[in-house]
Amino acid sequence: LRALFDLPDGLIYLDGNSLGPLPRAAGEAVGRAVQQEWGQGLIRSWNTAGWIDRAQAVGDAIAPLVGAGPGELLVADSTSLNLHKVLWAAMSLAQARQQAQGTSGGAAQRPQRRVLLTEQVNFPTDRYMADGLAESRGWTVRAVPGDALLPALAEPDVGVLMLTHVNYRSGALHDMAVVNRAATAAGVLTVWDLAHSAGAVPVDLKADGAAADFAVGCGYKYLNGGPGAPAFVWVHPALVNQVEQPLRGWLGHAAPFAFETAYRPASGIARYVCGTPPILSLTALQAGVQTVRAADALGGMAALRRKSLSLTRTFIGACGPVARAHGLRLLTPLEDDRRGSQVSWGCPPGWDGYGVMQRLIAAGVIGDFRAGDGRGEPDLLRFGFAPLYNRHEEAWRAAQALADACSHTAGATPAARPTVT
Ligand SMILES: *Cc1c(COP(=O)(O)O)cnc(C)c1O
Repeated sequence: LRALFDLPDGLIYLDGNSLGPLPRAAGEAVGRAVQQEWGQGLIRSWNTAGWIDRAQAVGDAIAPLVGAGPGELLVADSTSLNLHKVLWAAMSLAQARQQAQGTSGGAAQRPQRRVLLTEQVNFPTDRYMADGLAESRGWTVRAVPGDALLPALAEPDVGVLMLTHVNYRSGALHDMAVVNRAATAAGVLTVWDLAHSAGAVPVDLKADGAAADFAVGCGYKYLNGGPGAPAFVWVHPALVNQVEQPLRGWLGHAAPFAFETAYRPASGIARYVCGTPPILSLTALQAGVQTVRAADALGGMAALRRKSLSLTRTFIGACGPVARAHGLRLLTPLEDDRRGSQVSWGCPPGWDGYGVMQRLIAAGVIGDFRAGDGRGEPDLLRFGFAPLYNRHEEAWRAAQALADACSHTAGATPAARPTVT
């Protein structure tokens, strides 16, 4: 499967959790979309080349990777925008449910469910979106440490839980079934961010008795869709028609080409479309998703997961000596069922972690650096392992290169940082 990618010779790429590498098929597919579909077909290609159905077609290709059914998952917009849509929808649904309960009596003493529960350490966009929506809708965001989520779910004022399945810093993995069961029992709607899960760890959004309610995910990480690839959105089919999303775009209308004056939402996940899809980016994403689906014939996500765990375990073990020598702290859980597909080493205070990563990159091993918060969260060196193309040999060699990069740390002047670290 590694041969599906155009990876530069001699490079060890451990940043597919941030930007997946180029699938060989992507260049040709995008070239065809440009030269033939756009160049020759022009506007006819919306029908003749299937442009109008491409977002749903790519969604259907992603769906089995996360346990969704055909027609339930759609590619659109960015992860940030999709989060906005599903959070708004989940909040609306929580309020509507509570109103219905209120009018049927019996629930008079219940406090209002206007709390959005989430985990303290999360990718900033998730928190920003939640805070913004909470502010404008009179909700409160309650952020707790990961191990306090289950007890916090039982608080009677919680209406919605927003959780990232695999933490972007530590690589820790939540047990989705356990969380969904607890949320459902507490009457809380769940919104999952699968940015670091889709294509990396098995996900079962519709697990028996433990189904999720809403989910979003990223196209350019483990799905290899290319820089800025569009994202995906899923809503449980039992809920999708119960609530609208906030961005009433014309292509999410029930009859877009009737050009009606008044908005009527499309049925199903199609209502989460906003405007015209980015066909060239969708075409690249289609090629990226095909690289993951190519593993179907070899055991699919279960086989990818076995190799991923083996790769991260190998890397953690091989880094033991350098971690002990320099005081690097493993932030990633050692237990297989709590670990996503990355390894994160916390840097000691005052240490030039950015410079170490730059030396590592110069030596041909690409990971990335994420700054700490100056309080409890350390700076970290992050290494993403993608089982489609990473090899065990690379895990060993990367650990050796990390040891070399660290041994040159003492006395070096801290490197200046560009915008993207
Ligand atoms: C990568 C990532 C995003 C990305 O959001 P964009 O809108 O694509 O920039 C969002 N949330 C999480 C948890 C991520 O890891």
